[in-house]
Amino acid sequence: MPGGREFRGNYELASPTDSPPSATATALPITLRGLTRQYGQMYALENVDLDIESGEFLTLLGPSGSGKTTLLMAIAGFNRPDAGSIRFGDSEMILTPPHKREVGMVFQSYALFPHMTVAGNVAFPLKLRGVGASECAERVAEALETVQLTGLGERGVDQLSGGQRQRVALARAFVFRPRILLMDEPLSALDKKLRERMQIELKHLHQQLGVTTVYVTHDQREALTMSDRIAIINHGRLAQVDTPEAIYNQPANSFVADFIGESTILPLSPDGAGRLEFGGHVIASEPTGGGAGGWSLVIRPERLFELGEHAVDSERTVVFDGMVHDFVFQGETAFALVTVNGGHELVVRFGTNSEFSHDAMQPGDKIALGLHREDVIVIPRDDAHD
Ligand code: ADP
Ligand code: MG
Repeated sequence: MPGGREFRGNYELASPTDSPPSATATALPITLRGLTRQYGQMYALENVDLDIESGEFLTLLGPSGSGKTTLLMAIAGFNRPDAGSIRFGDSEMILTPPHKREVGMVFQSYALFPHMTVAGNVAFPLKLRGVGASECAERVAEALETVQLTGLGERGVDQLSGGQRQRVALARAFVFRPRILLMDEPLSALDKKLRERMQIELKHLHQQLGVTTVYVTHDQREALTMSDRIAIINHGRLAQVDTPEAIYNQPANSFVADFIGESTILPLSPDGAGRLEFGGHVIASEPTGGGAGGWSLVIRPERLFELGEHAVDSERTVVFDGMVHDFVFQGETAFALVTVNGGHELVVRFGTNSEFSHDAMQPGDKIALGLHREDVIVIPRDDAHD
């Protein structure tokens, strides 16, 4: 678990005689190979391979207990893996103590020094690195400006709002120009509006600093908003590593399809001629390789549309005939539950603009839904999630 104690440990261990990082410290790529961490019989991390590019914003996303903090703490050096390799650039770090790794860290719990001013907190890592007073003052002022706290340097941290405290924690994490910035759910203590604003600010800050950033969250929208790439983690294993668009549009398996966004997952049957069917309609050709256990269809609710009177171009469109069994208005969108073939349930999401007719969605109504073929997602069948 991240906490103030571990964070302070970073700096308590640091000796003021360590040479300060150069002013031009550059971002570094991170290479993880075979990273494994066991607690008793349980694998918190199991054979994790991951390449994080120099200057990239990579988010570790997964449910609670999936191993996100363990992985982040392994990169920071606070949690020693049982096996595997962690390289920053060309240097193996697995035996390097945390304070020698030159990473900046931000936690959900801020971990600020309560008895110090804002400026004192931000200056702390510089002082530990033996940066002289005038350069220290300059860099603290610069860091406070970057996080929009100019003029608040002499305040006590207990006089700040939650959002301001997290900015101080951020400034303290990057003021010494770390080559790597690690953040563990840094925004989850903030209310929704502030959190959303800080997401955008953090994204801009990352672009400004260009530092390799590993960000942990369990919030899929936060991950989609902020990341260059997202690494989805489940039970200590990486389920998919990809751009936000690819994660959403081409989930690799049922865990990812289920965890990110809404989805309906339907079983597909092979027709014996290399195609996959649902309800007697051909949905896609069978992928080559894999799928020993069969295939499933993933449908994103907003990609379904109601078919009008016009003839359907079956080259372009897959058709589902069903019956509305529930309809719920939710403001900017509405959703319907539609029963199709053999009692399977489809979730359909509609925009509620002026063209949308609520009357057409009464429970019991027959409905024909279309899905463009480019929106068809086929994944290997996984009975745990189907
Ligand atoms: P996350 O940050 O994704 O919520 P963690 O990395 O904190 O998950 O934990 C991963 C798994 O390892 C969980 O099942 C958790 O209970 C377990 N775990 C973490 N730290 C310890 C520990 N010190 N001792 C025993 N089990 C631990
Ligand atoms: Mg955690």
